[in-house]
Amino acid sequence: MEYLDIDALAPLQRNLASLSGLYLALYGERGNLILPPSNENALLMSLRGAPTARDEYREFLQASMKRALQRSDVSIFKGPGELSHFFMPIRIDTATFLVVGGGVFASSEDRETFLKMPATEYGMSADRQKALAQEVAIRGSSELQSIARALCSIFSLGLRSSYRGAILEKRYRLVKAVFGLLSDVQPEKEPDKLYDIILDMILFLFNVESIAIMVREGSVLKARRTGGRMRDYLSTVTCRISGILSDVIEKQRPLSSDSAMDILRLGFSDKIISFHAFPILSENRVTGALLICNSSVSEEDADIIFDICRMMGGSLRIAELEGTYYRCLKEKEVLNTAATRLIPVKEPDVLYETILDMSVRLTEAEKGSLMLMNEELSCLTVRAAKGINRRLLTDIKVKAGEGVAGWVFKEGVPLVMDDIEKNEWGFPKRHKYRTGSFVSVPLKLGEKIIGVLNLSDKISGEVFSEDDMALISSFASYAVIALERSTYYSLAGHLKALSVTDSLTGLFNRRYFEERFFEELNRSDRHNLAFSLAMIDIDDFKLFNDSEGHLAGDEILKSIAAIAKDCLRVSDVLARFGGEEFAVIMPQTEREEAVLVAERIRRSIKEQIPSTWSFFPRKSITVSIGIATFPYDGKDRKELIRNADKALYMAKMEGKDRTVPWHAKG
Ligand code: GH3
Ligand code: MG
Ligand code: MG
Repeated sequence: MEYLDIDALAPLQRNLASLSGLYLALYGERGNLILPPSNENALLMSLRGAPTARDEYREFLQASMKRALQRSDVSIFKGPGELSHFFMPIRIDTATFLVVGGGVFASSEDRETFLKMPATEYGMSADRQKALAQEVAIRGSSELQSIARALCSIFSLGLRSSYRGAILEKRYRLVKAVFGLLSDVQPEKEPDKLYDIILDMILFLFNVESIAIMVREGSVLKARRTGGRMRDYLSTVTCRISGILSDVIEKQRPLSSDSAMDILRLGFSDKIISFHAFPILSENRVTGALLICNSSVSEEDADIIFDICRMMGGSLRIAELEGTYYRCLKEKEVLNTAATRLIPVKEPDVLYETILDMSVRLTEAEKGSLMLMNEELSCLTVRAAKGINRRLLTDIKVKAGEGVAGWVFKEGVPLVMDDIEKNEWGFPKRHKYRTGSFVSVPLKLGEKIIGVLNLSDKISGEVFSEDDMALISSFASYAVIALERSTYYSLAGHLKALSVTDSLTGLFNRRYFEERFFEELNRSDRHNLAFSLAMIDIDDFKLFNDSEGHLAGDEILKSIAAIAKDCLRVSDVLARFGGEEFAVIMPQTEREEAVLVAERIRRSIKEQIPSTWSFFPRKSITVSIGIATFPYDGKDRKELIRNADKALYMAKMEGKDRTVPWHAKG
């Protein structure tokens, strides 16, 4: 189970098992053993070990687990040697685990029955049979049941925090990577660039084979951007919104299929053997779908990809809304500048003030406040205010459903009122306001409501109109995107310490490299694929530093990073391995291809870095590259890195400025 922190759970398992005097084990929902039994008694161990009883025991376990998984409470079954075991399913999110334990007699009759069995059947002498049976406790089944329930409720707490913790951590890492990539795109100007980044990111983070973004045009979906192995084929695809795809569009949920009939019916060729489709939503409307083809996607990954699609929808809304505004609200200059003024603001407090300031001006209001949901307090709190005594507001906490703001937040619809004194909603009178007229709009991103914008008392003394409400609602949809972005930016800021990039070159750092290397090894091993590792070392760099200075050396490192990156595919991982050494992981790449790529890097560096130095006695900056390919040149991390290093050493020995694959020398 890649999502469990086994190291954290094992001590809990051991403690609970020895406290209860029962054995305890944990299985996954497919019967896979996650935590092997702890605290088994001697009888159980010899039964499991005896050749005659081993199969019986295994079959008993399998059959019992199957039955137990269909129930939600503890099941108790009697197995080989008359020993009783409990089975309790624990469900966490979409995963199910099974806690198994016990191994005791449910009554003294069971013990007697066991003692009457011919011990030789279990490969033990009659004396040993007696001795072992004496040591096993007797626990009536209702007693066993209540112990099992108590054990499981404690164990499931541990399991839950371990499981959720691990998933959160994985998501965190992904979100971090996303923001690294998105930070320099302006989706409103370049939706295709955003699409490309998302495609590359999914290809890269989830190791999928082929991918496409399909855009809705009437009753068909047309490929807009494609990536991966089948990118060329996919770019020609137009598929009908029917069958399974109509569910994706209408029910707005992801679906997958590997049925040839489903696939052919939609208009794909038989090159596609399976697909996952995720709706791309924009303001509650599905505007397209993300397709992932011929790849297995775990449920957890599917959740994350769906999140990414939702986020993409949000970013693209900027572009869409801009179109609407130009058409409908041209006269309102301020709206046209809203996006340009709000989007670049990354400092949350400044952004709150800016949003409120613009809203007040748009509606010509005297007073206003911006309230956001504080998740910790489960209350709306004031983040910016105008025309109202700030000190009065800092302590205001409004629950969903309370007062005007709470109502708007809860219902998610805007509210305009000409005179609150006459309202039929039962809102209390407000003495601090001059006219009793106000407008409140929810700040909504898709389905999610993050706060409320309140405006009251028009300067002119007039009342707020429906037009004011429409205008401020449109403005709010800009504002909310800016707000969402700024939250993500500050999240990204917090995560900087854990960052995966190297600050000088912007490449991945050593830590990230090790992580990816480990993953790539596992993946290639599992799927029987080759991959290559290249180690790049700058030639005579010490001499360069000594003659041109360390700062000039740093510039060379940056240039090399940029040039090498340009020579690689998105699926390749380029990292700064050490001071002046770089490493490249090339997934699904055989030795010969890796040499071609490495040579491209080597030549580009030699040709593209201008020789502007005065003292370094070489014509150009050159590098040497060593290559090792899995599985031929090593099966584990150490061996591969060592052999790539040895190949690099060969390259240096043979005169530098060259690429050497390990096998040639190995
Ligand atoms: P060779 O061709 O055998 O690789 O010779 P070399 O001089 O490059 O030898 P070596 O790889 O041992 O030297 C590494 C040099 O790289 C030493 C160090 O001054 C320099 N270096 C390492 N990290 C940095 C860095 O971050 N910035 C700069 N400017 N120089 C670095
Ligand atoms: Mg070196
Ligand atoms: Mg060197």
